[in-house]
Amino acid sequence: MKTSVVGYPRIGAQRELKFALESFFKGSLAVEELKRIAKDLRILHWRSQKDAGVDFIPSNDFSYCDGMLDTAVMLGAVPKRYKNLKLDELSEYFSMARGYQGERGDVKALAMKKWFNTNYHYMVPEIEDEMELKLSGAKLFDEFVEAKDAGIVAKPVLIGPFTFLKLARYTGKRTCFDFENQIADAYSDALGKLAKLGAKWVQIDEPFLVMDLTSEDVEFFVSLYSKLLKNKHGIKVLLQTYFGDIRDCWNDVMPLDFDGIGIDFVEGMKSLELLEKNGFDNNKILFAGVVNGKNIWKNNYQKTILLLNSIRKYASNVIIGTSCSLLHVPYTLESERKLPDSYKKHLAFAKEKLAELSELKKLAEDDDYAKNSIFIENYGIFSSARSGVNNAVRERVASLVQKDFIRLPDFHEREKIQREEFKLPFLPTTTIGSFPQTEDVRANRAAFKSGKITEEEYKNFNKKKIADCIKLQEKIGLDVLVHGEFERNDMVEYFGECLDGFIFTEKAWVQSYGTRCVKPPIIWGDISRTRPMTVEYSVYAQSLSEKPVKGMLTGPVTILNWSFPREDISLRDMAMQIALAIREEVLELEANGIRVIQVDEAALKEKLPLRKADWGKGYLDWAIPAFRLVHSGVKPQTQIHTHMCYSEFESIVKEIDDMDADVITFEASRSNLDIIDALCACGFKTQVGPGVYDIHSPRIPSVEEMKETLIKILKKIPKEKLWVNPDCGLKTRGERETTPSLENLVAAAKQIREELKN
Ligand code: GLN
Ligand code: ZN
Repeated sequence: MKTSVVGYPRIGAQRELKFALESFFKGSLAVEELKRIAKDLRILHWRSQKDAGVDFIPSNDFSYCDGMLDTAVMLGAVPKRYKNLKLDELSEYFSMARGYQGERGDVKALAMKKWFNTNYHYMVPEIEDEMELKLSGAKLFDEFVEAKDAGIVAKPVLIGPFTFLKLARYTGKRTCFDFENQIADAYSDALGKLAKLGAKWVQIDEPFLVMDLTSEDVEFFVSLYSKLLKNKHGIKVLLQTYFGDIRDCWNDVMPLDFDGIGIDFVEGMKSLELLEKNGFDNNKILFAGVVNGKNIWKNNYQKTILLLNSIRKYASNVIIGTSCSLLHVPYTLESERKLPDSYKKHLAFAKEKLAELSELKKLAEDDDYAKNSIFIENYGIFSSARSGVNNAVRERVASLVQKDFIRLPDFHEREKIQREEFKLPFLPTTTIGSFPQTEDVRANRAAFKSGKITEEEYKNFNKKKIADCIKLQEKIGLDVLVHGEFERNDMVEYFGECLDGFIFTEKAWVQSYGTRCVKPPIIWGDISRTRPMTVEYSVYAQSLSEKPVKGMLTGPVTILNWSFPREDISLRDMAMQIALAIREEVLELEANGIRVIQVDEAALKEKLPLRKADWGKGYLDWAIPAFRLVHSGVKPQTQIHTHMCYSEFESIVKEIDDMDADVITFEASRSNLDIIDALCACGFKTQVGPGVYDIHSPRIPSVEEMKETLIKILKKIPKEKLWVNPDCGLKTRGERETTPSLENLVAAAKQIREELKN
């Protein structure tokens, strides 16, 4: 038996790539240095996999930014506006990733979207009618050769043409079908070139196959791959799927000339059933994804061996693999010095998962595996109960009733009351919450964590920042203010740290987009609130201004979705436990004079099943109520905001309206306001603030640009319903670009208010 890894994290165990890129962007790191650091990381990652005994080691899973963007570049799909800048290759690449503002022009970055049901974001390729997709760029080949020089014949990994075309945005009249021949040729050329360089296998990722597919989609896939596989140039092709099962196309995919098929047995609810029903071609190899690439719990060998045995009944050639790329889990437990072993023994990060692959291989080859010491040790971990039960919380969740989820009076009544209460101008301006987390903010936190300063000193510094931030917002002229979130390392981790039931890591970073990483807390036991979490800072901030200052919380679904969840109780129960805790905080903020409270649900959609058929009686039926539970106890005067970003909400706008918030702000500036039409179509009642300023790019949007966007929005959304705001929190931005951008934003709103008067 052999083992295979779908993909490996690339940002570096100590986030080396992040820091290198950020220095490079600032101009303090030379490009050669950046390239050297990137290369060192690649070699290191290949070596760890080799040392762990992995047989199929991926290459080309590295990226300076994102694999979809790399694929666009590989196919020469660079939109005109970037080409026209006439930059060198790397600068052109970063202009697509981050936007460009400089002597050669001013262009926005490509749109960014959540990658299936993960918190990783990909760059949305733009395909123009005039584009000709053909093999360009050398990354795929260079990295294969680099691995080879390091003594490793890697398995190059490509995002597949079907997924690429399905996720791309088409700016002209042509659609994915028009590019079938071109893209098939381009990939075929890539196979040929890889074969020449000595590659034996290539992995083509087609996660889009786990989505709901129409018969047209399936036909397109079959026709595209029939062309692509016509000449494989002697290379073996693995079709890799993940994040679900391929129930809509299993029987169409199997006859194609693939040499291996990668099936996800962790998230693929129907994978085993499909295999049992349809069997598996003996001439193909089944790459069985049985080691979870998304969660951090140790693999239960007993269950996995049973699963592998079931799989082997139907497939004679099986390779043990990860369920998806390990990009979605942190590097290694070795970096966790503070976490006691009693916790650690239940966990496995990327590097530990490599070890799991080889241990599973040993057990799978051992007829008497139950006597194997590897098995016995693993069995021991799972047979002892974990701590962390809180009966009071369990009872509260069990006794929730319908009325706990209903806020009274209804939305329209509240809207009237709140207009009187706040007397805000039309198009009120606000921000999403965080202000730049500058060097001094991080240094203050680090000093406190390492015991160099007292808690009082730590807090006083934060309060000083808050005071400055309030002053700045008043000067800029924003209408609804925020305290700036200087006390938060991260919007989920912060709450995790304040709540009972979570455990924390020091270095367990996971890439979210570009150079941004998150450190998801781990839900260990039942969750409860033991102390106020935000009240002191919020009350302080409000005391400094006559204007309303928003209390700022993270919602239950987002805390759940951006944590590593338990697997021993349901997601619903975890969400309700968290919702009860956040509800207590909401009520305490209100009792302390906070009149506007924002409960962020940035990740609302993340665990929504990828297929519509799996939605009902599931996710949304508890996710929306969990949010409602948080705010159903507040007074009508208290205005509840929520915020969402970077997913396609079009399909669930009705449910979002049902969250029954008073105002929702969301990301829109990178996605051409597609969502506005969906809002109109469903008669959305909640007031909305579609972001008019892309905060993930360092460029400064002009007054004109934001006015133009607002005018477009106002054609569809009545002015009484519209808020004006950036599309997300400002924590990753610098002060240099933040202040002028917000000044422009306020100016744009003011000018439109004037124009509307006439
Ligand atoms: N309030 C958070 C912030 O501004 C929201 C961040 C987010 O949506 N990801 O940072
Ligand atoms: Zn956001």
